[in-house]
Amino acid sequence: GSTLEIKDLHVEIEGQEILKGVNLTINGGEFHAVMGPNGTGKSTLASAIMGHPKYEVTQGEVLLDGENVLEMEVDERAQAGLFLAMQYPSEISGVTNSDFLRSAINSRREEGDEISLMKFIKEMDAKMDTLEIDKNMAQRYLNEGFSGGEKKRNEILQLMTIQPDIAILDEIDSGLDIDALKVVAKGINEMRDDAFGCLIITHYQRLLDYITPDKVHVMMQGRVVKSGGPELAKRLEEEGYDWIKEELGIED
Ligand code: ADP
Ligand code: MG
Ligand code: MG
Repeated sequence: GSTLEIKDLHVEIEGQEILKGVNLTINGGEFHAVMGPNGTGKSTLASAIMGHPKYEVTQGEVLLDGENVLEMEVDERAQAGLFLAMQYPSEISGVTNSDFLRSAINSRREEGDEISLMKFIKEMDAKMDTLEIDKNMAQRYLNEGFSGGEKKRNEILQLMTIQPDIAILDEIDSGLDIDALKVVAKGINEMRDDAFGCLIITHYQRLLDYITPDKVHVMMQGRVVKSGGPELAKRLEEEGYDWIKEELGIED
């Protein structure tokens, strides 16, 4: 499997430092959760790794199998095996969901080794069944008029179809009712494989009732301040974040 290393990452938005030295390593086969109060920089971490132009990396490194991700173009990051599901996926007019998925798969394959249309449709259908996605979603324009829940399911369909080496999922659980949450968790759990590493960013513990992370990290004020196992997420659910603030002497 692949390894994603985030080393001493500092990120500014419009001249203001938001990430103040984030360190995290995700190996193939591992599920990591990043939790933390609102406004602590979780989405900034995802956006900076994705290469959003508004997020300026001022220090540190992001390496995928030793390759500098931050020097890659955005599409090169995907080709290298990174998958980033953003909190607010954008609409792409004129591109159907099915076309988008097929070209995403083929961009990671050698020329001449593109997936056949028959095989693609068969695989996509099976995954849509798992995720309880309506079949007509395949022919709709990407994210255009998708409900919040449809977007989230569709991101997991992209994840399962593209089969990246490392995925970063930002608040894949936000706005989902419990049934949709279970379906999304089922899709992510189906990805469990020695060759697949995942960073799950979430504000709420409830997603972690259905996906058991190997490691849990707490982010506060632009840094990872505490790491542990799944029991850490349970304690956060029961006690909130105040005990960590007290332990570390962090002021609001
Ligand atoms: P989280 O995902 O943990 O809730 P964010 O990464 O979204 O936190 O935000 C971290 C901080 O950066 C917040 O103070 C937020 O106001 C600020 N921020 C995030 N995105 C932008 C932006 N596009 N422009 C200005 N400030 C931003
Ligand atoms: Mg966020
Ligand atoms: Mg793979």
